[in-house]
Amino acid sequence: MLRIFLWILLGVLPSLASPQKLKVVASFSILGDLVRQVGQDLVEVSIIVPENADPHIYQPKPLDIIKINEADLVFVNGLSFEGWFGRLIVNSGYKGDIITAGKNVKPRILLDSKGVSATDPHAWHSVKNAMLYVEEIKKALQHKLPHYTKKIEENAASYSEKLKKLDDWVKEQFKTSDKKRHIVITTHDAFSYYGTDYGIEFLSPVGISTDSEASAAVIAEMIRTIKEKNVKAVFIENLSNRKLIEQIAAEARVNVDGVLYADSLSSPSTASSPARTYIEMIQHNTQTIREALEF
Ligand code: ZN
Repeated sequence: MLRIFLWILLGVLPSLASPQKLKVVASFSILGDLVRQVGQDLVEVSIIVPENADPHIYQPKPLDIIKINEADLVFVNGLSFEGWFGRLIVNSGYKGDIITAGKNVKPRILLDSKGVSATDPHAWHSVKNAMLYVEEIKKALQHKLPHYTKKIEENAASYSEKLKKLDDWVKEQFKTSDKKRHIVITTHDAFSYYGTDYGIEFLSPVGISTDSEASAAVIAEMIRTIKEKNVKAVFIENLSNRKLIEQIAAEARVNVDGVLYADSLSSPSTASSPARTYIEMIQHNTQTIREALEF
């Protein structure tokens, strides 16, 4: 009798346990949040480049190899963003799918610091592009979790609705006919997609990657532009060279107006952290820019 009872119990227990979550790795924190929003409790997301670390110049750690090796699915931004990723995949021995979330984005081509044209990877700063990312994430998760297709569809639809509202809200913040107000200085060229969508001109002393240095000529030109065009909005970024922007601002006799989040979210563990999710990041950047431009 006892044996039968135990046999039934052992048969029932596994089905009562919560289903195993899909182990997903995303290359950096912003992408990790988008995957979490679509996968919700069906996924366990690990990120390679942590919050407040720079994905352009990241050096993978031994723990990253383990994370990739144990993953069921891997997401990257693409658009030449994660130059270090290929070697990490080879070293990990991972043979599963690698999804390029930004693959349907229309890439912007900018000049890098040496004047050579290069793909601008920072597509996520256009909320419309983030919606394309969500579509790719949804398809990939549905493929891996066919029993949860409907749930993933609902998650993606609900999040996309929030993104649509966010996109409309950002547009609303910069409504004016006065184009002179629309010049913003940041450390590196991370906001070109944002600028195109929302009618802001971003200038920066460093190119599209933080691995380059600004030349003296570029710095002098930037100071001249700030003075000539009466630029009001000058920002540092959470990851990059603070001193450079402070030097430019001091020489141009303008204030530094705050911190923008370009390539990473802020630390999730601090309650006052302004950009713990993608939506918070866009809201924070928009409000900060708007205040500096005196709308
Ligand atoms: Zn960047």
